[in-house]
Amino acid sequence: MSVRVVARLRPLLDKELDKDIIVDATGEKDGKPSSMVRIPNPKNEAEEFSFAFNGVYDMPTPQEEIFTNEVAPHLKSLFQGLDVTIFAYGVTGTGKTHTMRGGMKLSERGVIPRLLSGIYRRGRKVAKDSGGETSVSITLSYYEIYNDKVYDLFEAPEKRSLAGLPLREKDGKTIVVGLSEHACDDLKDFEKLYIEANNNRSTAGTKLNAQSSRSHAILMVKVHQTDSEGTLTSTASAIDLAGSEDNRRTENGKERMVESASINKSLFVLSQCIDAIGRGDKRIPYRESKMTRILSLGQNNGITIMILNLAPLRSYHLDTLSSLNVSSRAKRI
Ligand code: ADP
Ligand code: MG
Repeated sequence: MSVRVVARLRPLLDKELDKDIIVDATGEKDGKPSSMVRIPNPKNEAEEFSFAFNGVYDMPTPQEEIFTNEVAPHLKSLFQGLDVTIFAYGVTGTGKTHTMRGGMKLSERGVIPRLLSGIYRRGRKVAKDSGGETSVSITLSYYEIYNDKVYDLFEAPEKRSLAGLPLREKDGKTIVVGLSEHACDDLKDFEKLYIEANNNRSTAGTKLNAQSSRSHAILMVKVHQTDSEGTLTSTASAIDLAGSEDNRRTENGKERMVESASINKSLFVLSQCIDAIGRGDKRIPYRESKMTRILSLGQNNGITIMILNLAPLRSYHLDTLSSLNVSSRAKRI
């Protein structure tokens, strides 16, 4: 199992009035390249904290570069049967959805559409190189975890059961009972399904419909390679996590508190798993939250990439510091 944790600093947005940049992700220290992010100590601005990552992307980094460096190199492993899991972590407003889904323009497409496009391209190559012996098919599942309940994003919100979908153990794996799986033959199919499912995520109106910043959205892309010997299936998962901000500081309604507690717990377990995998521990506490359990995080020979999204501004200071504390590989230096 391998894990990579990288930081991505988003640029200032036109609409932002606060222009006070406090995060340094230039990846340089004393003229030498480094993979550090630096931020002042909020209690004593003369002092600086540094956090180490496996990679740092300063503003503005094109979407293509993130995909080419962090995801594309693992497509080969995916087709060799390894699972690949990509998380976007960070405070609401720092660019998680931009990183994963991205914009409509080709150059602004995020990790997810590029991943699918890469999978189809490689799938065609595998089939061709096998001289027609191997056929490749792709299926999609897409669900969100909100208040520790699992909802199928291919189900319209009004059709969902409030209790969410149950989990069950099967052959040593955790499966989501009743989660739909959709054949997806090409990029066009994908785009249609993906847009449809995302609408189920963001349409407000029913109680069940979590605001995107308070739920984890998990896309599972299964790659099935079939030949006369049988089928090899591997999974690429792309996850747009709930905002990591401390909701207790800004809101105190009861509903928000419940959300907050379950978001904080699952993000905490996730970071514990990432740390344990990074250290090469035998025991990874993946059973302690639904998301890490469904992903079987660290239970196979897969690859995990965590992209920590950061906003450069002072208005995010405390939240930025706490997300750096959680995600940095080497912690404060
Ligand atoms: P999150 O999902 O973490 O809440 P978003 O992805 O919605 O954050 O990003 C917040 C805003 O910042 C959006 O308007 C988005 O388009 C913009 N944004 C985020 N990252 C970038 C980037 N790397 N380049 C340009 N705009 C960005
Ligand atoms: Mg978002």
